Amino acid sequence: NKQVIFKDYVSGFPKESDMYLKTNGTIKLKVPEGSNGLLVKNLYLSCDPYMRSRMKKSTDSLVPGSPIVGFGVAKVVDSGNPKFKKGDLVWGRTGWEEYSLITDLQSLFKIEHTDVPLSYYTGILGMPGITAYGGFYEVCSPKKGEYVFISAASGAVGQLVGQFAKLLGCYVVGSAGSKEKVDLLKNKLKFDEAFNYKEESDLDAALKRYFPDGIDIYFENVGGKMLDAVLLNMRTHGRIAVCGMISQYNLEKPEGVYNLTHMIYKRVHMKAFVAFDYYHLYPKFLDLVLPHIAEGNIVYLEDIAEGLESGPAALVGLFSGLNVGKQVVLVAQE
Ligand code: NDP
Repeated sequence: NKQVIFKDYVSGFPKESDMYLKTNGTIKLKVPEGSNGLLVKNLYLSCDPYMRSRMKKSTDSLVPGSPIVGFGVAKVVDSGNPKFKKGDLVWGRTGWEEYSLITDLQSLFKIEHTDVPLSYYTGILGMPGITAYGGFYEVCSPKKGEYVFISAASGAVGQLVGQFAKLLGCYVVGSAGSKEKVDLLKNKLKFDEAFNYKEESDLDAALKRYFPDGIDIYFENVGGKMLDAVLLNMRTHGRIAVCGMISQYNLEKPEGVYNLTHMIYKRVHMKAFVAFDYYHLYPKFLDLVLPHIAEGNIVYLEDIAEGLESGPAALVGLFSGLNVGKQVVLVAQE
């Protein structure tokens, strides 16, 4: 059983060498006697920015010397639980290894729709998808015609938020870190505008260029200087959904945000949330998104690294923007 092992707690930017590959001999493809868990074959693993927070010492840390844990798509090889049977496809928390014994079945979803790429259950139909859905529809209270700005817009979550906003009839602008991503946002994902934040020396001026009348909704993925500039450009009664702040995750001392008083002047509503706040909406979310995928109204960009051994580089790459779209690791074919 090949595994990607978490070496030790990380400070600063994570590196490939914070993880290593280990072959753990052969394992019995059976659930241990008396266990109500599942023995699964991992097919796709998800690289997600939150995994960085589990690499530092806390009550929820990864365990040094043990496999990385994250979201993935897997096939049940043996089941000790009546709700799952051999051959079922599932998505949820699993290990970065060829086979895993999953004992926490609470947030494991059975995959019912297989007429889409299975890798989608790490992205658009998995945790990032429900994040985009809950964050946009529930937190932002969006209305047709509103001005929407999304940072890290070409990523797993951002690209979907932008397409939801377009379908509702909003004006949508995204920021991303390369020309290739900006082109994809405008041409493939049908954003109204997009810009490369790395080429803007003055983010306030850039936002004023695209939002001369201000921003109604900001879907926050990066934090730091971008949040500060956005606060200067919010409209009265604007909403900010705080999904993530990736620019801050590797800093020992987070960057200052100085313009919070603008929340008062403009009566801005800013709310943070996590994906599992909206897990109960998953069936409703699927009802909305599956037909849109089938009809081609929503497209999804993926960046698939091949082989378990490519996992560490793929995960680390998130923090320098190497991924173009949702970063997935293909471990095995079904
Ligand atoms: P992405 O697919 O967007 O990948 C991360 C991207 O972040 C990179 O490609 C890069 O794109 C951008 N980035 C990296 N470093 C910086 C930086 N210093 N400044 C600005 N941008 C940077 O990831 P996700 O879509 O999965 O996640 C997006 C955000 O949503 C993250 O903050 C994440 O933590 C959060 N999140 C929160 C959840 C929740 O439950 N609240 C659930 C899922 C995600 P670029 O080239 O554009 O710089």
